[in-house]
Amino acid sequence: MSSRREPVESLRRRALEIVRRLAREYADARCALTHEDPLQLLVATILSAQCTDVRVNLVTKELFRKYRGARDFAASPPGVLEREIRSTGFFRNKARSIRGACAAIATRHGGKVPRTMDELLELPGVARKTANVVLGTAFGIASGVVVDTHVMRIARLLRLTREANPVRIERDLAALLPPETWIDFSHRLIWHGRRVCIARRPRCDGCVVVDLCPSADVAAAKARAQRSSAASPRSSR
Ligand code: SF4
Repeated sequence: MSSRREPVESLRRRALEIVRRLAREYADARCALTHEDPLQLLVATILSAQCTDVRVNLVTKELFRKYRGARDFAASPPGVLEREIRSTGFFRNKARSIRGACAAIATRHGGKVPRTMDELLELPGVARKTANVVLGTAFGIASGVVVDTHVMRIARLLRLTREANPVRIERDLAALLPPETWIDFSHRLIWHGRRVCIARRPRCDGCVVVDLCPSADVAAAKARAQRSSAASPRSSR
């Protein structure tokens, strides 16, 4: 991979072509967290940290039947919510964030999830990623680019950013892409990360942006090397 900086105009053109191809490939991409309203999406997004969407959806199926609004979550007795969300991992922190955010929504926002980045960031346990998910998916507001682990990894492989920090990656992507692409671009990159550009075994051969990706050769070579070392018999015993 070259260490030379790509001229900004070339980078912008390449980024837009990546957006266009991913849009064609993943036209139906959407948020995989099951929810019926902004509050449910907020809770599901908090639970999704370090956890699969499948697991979160299993847990929220029961949770959303029991807790009908912010006041219910805020009033959940100590230990009960923790038990109910335990399988999503980091359950104590997540329960604290859910209770804290829901208490603030109930008391300061009349039980409704606020619709601005500043107000969302004031809720306990809510950082930019969660706020962007809620604003983009629940309200259709392009406040920024959702940067999860897939977006972080693939944006770097595609050399749309050289940053490692999610806030800086978001800043780079937002500077490159038109705001009307931000919401869907995140969903599509996440789908791409699950289906094709899989961590540690990217399927570059079947990737729609392979000719636009500076990491294609390196990633494909790594994947090939891993496949062949996994297939070769143990040499010593
Ligand atoms: S070419 Fe390979 S590394 Fe690049 S985005 Fe596609 S799958 Fe990922």
